[in-house]
Amino acid sequence: MKLSKFIRRFIFLTAFSSLLLAFLISVLYQYHNFENDMIHIKKEFTEQKKKEIKNEVLMVYNLVEHKEELLKKEVERRLKEKVNLAYGIAKNIYETNKNKKTDEEIKYLIALALKDLTYENDNTYFFINSNKGQAILFNKEIKFDKYHDVWNLKDDNGNFIIQNQSKIALEKKEGFLISTFIKPDSNDTKQYSKLSYVKLFEPFNWHIGIGEYIDELREKNKKELLNWIASLRFENSGYIFVNSTNGETLVFEGNIVEVKPHPFPELMKQQLETAQNPNGDFYEYKFKKPNTVQEFDKVSFIKKYDEYNWIIGCGVYLDELNNELKRKEIMFKETINNQIKSMLIIFLLLVVIIYLLSKRISTFINYNINSLIQAFSKASQNNEKINTEELTYKEFVSLADNLNKTLENKNMVEKKLQDYIQIVNQNVIISTTNKEGKIQNVSEAFCKVSGYSKDELIGKTHSLVKHPETSSDFYKDMWNQLLSGKEWKGEIKNKSKDGKTYWVYAIITPILINNEIQGFTAIRNNITDKKYIEQLSITDELTKLYNRRFFNNKIEEEINRAKRENKTLCLLILDIDYFKQYNDTYGHQKGDFVLESVAKVLANRTNRASDFAFRLGGEEFAIITTLEKEKAIEFAEVIRSDIEKLKIEHKSSTISKHLTISIGLVSKYAIDIENSDKLYKEADDNLYIAKKQGRNSIYYNEDK
Ligand code: GH3
Ligand code: MG
Ligand code: MG
Repeated sequence: MKLSKFIRRFIFLTAFSSLLLAFLISVLYQYHNFENDMIHIKKEFTEQKKKEIKNEVLMVYNLVEHKEELLKKEVERRLKEKVNLAYGIAKNIYETNKNKKTDEEIKYLIALALKDLTYENDNTYFFINSNKGQAILFNKEIKFDKYHDVWNLKDDNGNFIIQNQSKIALEKKEGFLISTFIKPDSNDTKQYSKLSYVKLFEPFNWHIGIGEYIDELREKNKKELLNWIASLRFENSGYIFVNSTNGETLVFEGNIVEVKPHPFPELMKQQLETAQNPNGDFYEYKFKKPNTVQEFDKVSFIKKYDEYNWIIGCGVYLDELNNELKRKEIMFKETINNQIKSMLIIFLLLVVIIYLLSKRISTFINYNINSLIQAFSKASQNNEKINTEELTYKEFVSLADNLNKTLENKNMVEKKLQDYIQIVNQNVIISTTNKEGKIQNVSEAFCKVSGYSKDELIGKTHSLVKHPETSSDFYKDMWNQLLSGKEWKGEIKNKSKDGKTYWVYAIITPILINNEIQGFTAIRNNITDKKYIEQLSITDELTKLYNRRFFNNKIEEEINRAKRENKTLCLLILDIDYFKQYNDTYGHQKGDFVLESVAKVLANRTNRASDFAFRLGGEEFAIITTLEKEKAIEFAEVIRSDIEKLKIEHKSSTISKHLTISIGLVSKYAIDIENSDKLYKEADDNLYIAKKQGRNSIYYNEDK
């Protein structure tokens, strides 16, 4: 994957997933908040509704209380005014008559004056009692003429009426009191609640008073209040209800109803229990809505008004509350959905922006990386350093610096390598051939030593430089080894273009690809000089055959080789017959010439790789061969005959006119050879026998 593509994807995916995550979190958060808010709102809303109904009830309660208060005050004002008026009249009568008439007459006049002063409309009338318990004007009747003691008169509640009135007059001069009392004009003896005002009339130690039957006023007041309460309506199905503590309904479902026991006694019981709380309280129940039969959950607040024994209440239907809540919830959800919609739009916009941004960044990176790649490929193609000033980023510059260093090193190494190759080319004799042995390439050193040009060599085989003395068996062995995939090492005698011999030590390695020979590489070392010195040290100067020193080494080598290869080894020791006499007859110089002629015969007959001819010393020669015994005998015979055929005149020989040789031959299986000395001795002994037998002959030991 391209780096720019990766970066683009990375930026885009990272930003996208972060945004998506942020979006999801905020949506979840919104919903979570929404749910919390809903719980909160529900609670608040319920509280609010409860508060509202509580306020309604308290408002009604306060108004009822206030109206009752007002009523009392009005009555009190009225009573006070009337008592003061009566007091004024009484005082006036007294003052006018005090010196003219007797006290009894004056008292009578006062009682008479006040007796008729009644107020029919509100059923009030004055009364006078002495502060000692004598009724003066009592029940609209003057009780003055005969003593009427009312001191111990009690009301329905067991309070002493007159005693209390006298007490107020004497202690506070005037004041109010509540008691129950009969209505003078009615036929029953029932006592009614009455508010009275009494004032001390000092001249006769009396108290003058007047009272109003407040029950009636109250009843009126209550009626007004109930009418008003029944007319109250709140949103939807809200209304005030009033029940009495006796369990009777007064205002039911917002209507004045006939006073009768509450239709749901259980509910009434629950109301009465709740109303125990002097501050009022809430309670929950099921109740039908006005004009329906279906029941709904309802919560109401009630408070008891002790003065009237009323239970005033107002309730709210919970389903209406829930409907309201649902409406709010829908509104709320709509708001949140709108918010989410706008967030989604912002999110999509941001995604597009991020996509474009990441694409732009990717293009920018791509451009920069491409120019870096171009700079790199130019540098590696031309081996030229990158111009770091043209690069944009520090990282790129450091990359380029590294490449520049590598290039520098590479160029240096290449230069060194080139120098080495040049040295090798000029000094090491190298050739590569294909598997058929055709030359593919040669070093300059090869051309130099062989005298051939590259063009002359390429496409040819190495037989071009083959020395005629190197046997074809030698090459056969070499090829066998090489074609088996093994390396070949050894010395090769070669011939240059101008016919000169040169020796090389060659290491030839097969080039193997998948175990198949593709060709060969040969590295050679020119060992001509070494070889020359070596040759000198092992060559007999006169005959050019190998010398004794080389024989000593070679015999050991050949014994070992024969043992390794489990072959037969033959040793021939040859000695010229009567050579002393020859020298004596023909001179030493001719003798040397004979030695050379014999040596030539031996050399010619030992041109096989496994045959070696030596001059052991004087006129004594040796041949080592691996021929089988029969063949070796034939071979010895050929040599003996060849020498004879040379027809070198030898006058002083007693056995022939010409020069002859005797040969001692020993042929042995490798395992039968003990050591070189014993082998040599055996051959030498055989030579001795051959001499003894008459010379110009071959002797070999018969197989046992
Ligand atoms: P026989 O048949 O028993 O071998 O008789 P012979 O005369 O060959 O006996 P012997 O082996 O004892 O003599 C060797 C002679 O070879 C002695 C010496 O004069 C001669 N001779 C040795 N070295 C050289 C040499 O380098 N040049 C010449 N011309 N003669 C040599
Ligand atoms: Mg000899
Ligand atoms: Mg001899």
